[in-house]
Amino acid sequence: METINTVEQLRRTVSGWRTQEMRTAVVPTMGALHEGHVALVQHGLRLADRVVVTIFVNPKQFGANEDLGKYPRDEVGDRRKLKQAGAHLIYAPAALEMYPEGFVTEVVTSGPAKVGLEDRFRPHFFNGVATAVAKLFIQAGCDYAMFGEKDYQQLKVVTRMASDLDIPTVVIAVPTMREQDGLAMSSRNRYLSREERAQAPRIHRELEAAADAIRKGAAPAQAAAAAARALSQAGFRVDYVEARNADTLAELHAMSDPVRLLAAAWLGSTRLIDNVGV
Ligand code: AMP
Repeated sequence: METINTVEQLRRTVSGWRTQEMRTAVVPTMGALHEGHVALVQHGLRLADRVVVTIFVNPKQFGANEDLGKYPRDEVGDRRKLKQAGAHLIYAPAALEMYPEGFVTEVVTSGPAKVGLEDRFRPHFFNGVATAVAKLFIQAGCDYAMFGEKDYQQLKVVTRMASDLDIPTVVIAVPTMREQDGLAMSSRNRYLSREERAQAPRIHRELEAAADAIRKGAAPAQAAAAAARALSQAGFRVDYVEARNADTLAELHAMSDPVRLLAAAWLGSTRLIDNVGV
């Protein structure tokens, strides 16, 4: 499994695969990989003959006060996990390869990116994500791209972006991988202290409890508010717990709307996000 760093190498390798009529999948990541990322690779291997994993900590999606400088990096561990998972190629461009001097173009998102969830708290986030992901899709030219439901709003934004820009890569959603106690796997979980780690699965528990209440007839907004209260009482600083249309992420209107519950909350200095279907 080779690691490459340039667009030119990536294009050459993927077009070589394509001339052999191989189907290809790309898995965009920021590294510090865990079993959630491995699940994306495994899912990619089911659809495609070749899977390329990109590792790029995208500066454009971090706000000024966020954790870009201390975002975890683990090149040796990442390589070992990807080799074991059966990935075929790692593409790890430097920031200047993605954004060379003079770079000024940005993908400006709307629709699912502007529904009052992550965008309320991280206003630059989705333009940064969409700009990097559009570039990665165009650079790689793969048939499929694997994205985790863990970042549900991101999944919707990226799907919309690829469709709007006529990028022929099909975005595939992969279910969230969880620790045994229900905590959604995340590279940021390693920031948690022992006490915080013990508390963290509470987010998933409260979301599941709210989903259960909705299934039994509770009003979605009230179930979400109850989950937010329970998390606050347990010591979380809650950014949001919201029940939204699972397809569009718009506010719920009809009883028949498919429902997704989404949450973001802080434990100490670590921000956790999670979501569940109803
Ligand atoms: P990240 O490296 O955190 O930017 O994530 C890269 C990709 O992995 C995104 O598509 C995420 O949604 C996905 N991902 C992250 N954590 C998980 C998880 N626990 N289960 C499934 N996919 C995940």
